Amino acid sequence: MTFLFKSGSLWLAGLLGSAAYVSGQEAASEPLPLDPIRFAKVTPLGKVPDWSALKAYAGTLSREEFETAWSEIYSPENGLPPPFEITSDALLVPTGDPSEPTFSLSFRAATSEEASPPLPVWRRASDLPALRGRPPLSDLHIALDPGHIGGQWGQMEERFLSFKPGEIIKEGDLSLLTAQILQKRLEALGAVVTLVRDQPQPVTEQRPENFVGVATETLKEYGILTPATSYAGLQGDAKIITVQWQTEKLFYRVSEIHARADKVNRKIKPDMVLCLHFIAEAWGPSDAPQFSHQNHLHVLVNGCYAPVELEQQDVRFEMLQRLFSRIHEEEIPLATSVAEGMARVTGLPAYVYTTPNARKAGTNPYVYARNLLANRLYQCPVVYLEPFVMNHEETYRRLLVGHYVGRTLIGGRLQTSAIEDYVGGVVQGLLSYYQNQRKSS
Ligand SMILES: [Zn+2]
Repeated sequence: MTFLFKSGSLWLAGLLGSAAYVSGQEAASEPLPLDPIRFAKVTPLGKVPDWSALKAYAGTLSREEFETAWSEIYSPENGLPPPFEITSDALLVPTGDPSEPTFSLSFRAATSEEASPPLPVWRRASDLPALRGRPPLSDLHIALDPGHIGGQWGQMEERFLSFKPGEIIKEGDLSLLTAQILQKRLEALGAVVTLVRDQPQPVTEQRPENFVGVATETLKEYGILTPATSYAGLQGDAKIITVQWQTEKLFYRVSEIHARADKVNRKIKPDMVLCLHFIAEAWGPSDAPQFSHQNHLHVLVNGCYAPVELEQQDVRFEMLQRLFSRIHEEEIPLATSVAEGMARVTGLPAYVYTTPNARKAGTNPYVYARNLLANRLYQCPVVYLEPFVMNHEETYRRLLVGHYVGRTLIGGRLQTSAIEDYVGGVVQGLLSYYQNQRKSS
């Protein structure tokens, strides 16, 4: 039962129920079997979509543009048919609403002019005002999203690491430190920068105890009818199928990201979001962690939706909203440029995914597409960074020292600060993208 809400859980959970799609593969052109219950599901804490909001995109994308985006970015590479139908002139999507089971969105006809889509809140690099000699990131509004919560929540989030009493690193604290230093550098280059989280505290006002009902229901769906209340003394799968673990996950992951998405989409309204994370290799039990020999970097864009994930109506809607707003047209080149800057400064090799929940996006070896809650819900280009394996021994020691400029002796070698390299890589990537893409006069 490791698939319950672990990273990529829906994917894995879905895989177990995807036999119908495998057998339906040869019959891909048959009409969709509209099963209202199957397509009516909503993710935990997800919103039932207002399908009519997509009408604004009618006639804005050609069928070919839709199919290219679907086959090269948004679909997974396994070729299983999606739960929607592409006809010659429209996309037919099951809504999950029995009173109006299909939503039809027309494609732009080959002969007609491009209809103007609704103006997005975010601006492309090419839409920003000309620089006219001002600093290179002038007018650009960047939201920095420090991954996780950190502080007193680091342990609950399973994002803290200690190899010796008295020393500890927490991903949520490191990501906030990175964001605070990055903010100053980007502001010095003219950007307007807003932190989605500026304290080691949650953005959501909910707490685990608010989710006992949802957690119990979810466990029931997976056949766990009498779950243990607490995970005290439990490890691994046994821990995951407790009410405590599920309520905590709903709090620090699901509710927290929904709260951040509300803040990004309604309040901050940036031109782009940088989600700042640090990666880790499996380190075993938290009280006896293991170092890994691997150290690497990758950068994520949104995409790679499994058909089973798209059976959920909110996921289906949110993917189509992103695809039809053409966010990928800005997000992938932007992420590619940031990945190039990060690779140059950190010298880290590219991580290679071997699991079906990610696929390459574009040609850069560091850039992958994945369907994550944050990069699906934030309605603007999102570059999601995953550098530095926290339990790689040298990286761990560098991270323990925190931020500094220049070099210091770590493990017998003079080394730069990992945080400083992170910041430097992002700045280089953004500078090169915006200097190339925006009008100079
Ligand atoms: Zn993270």
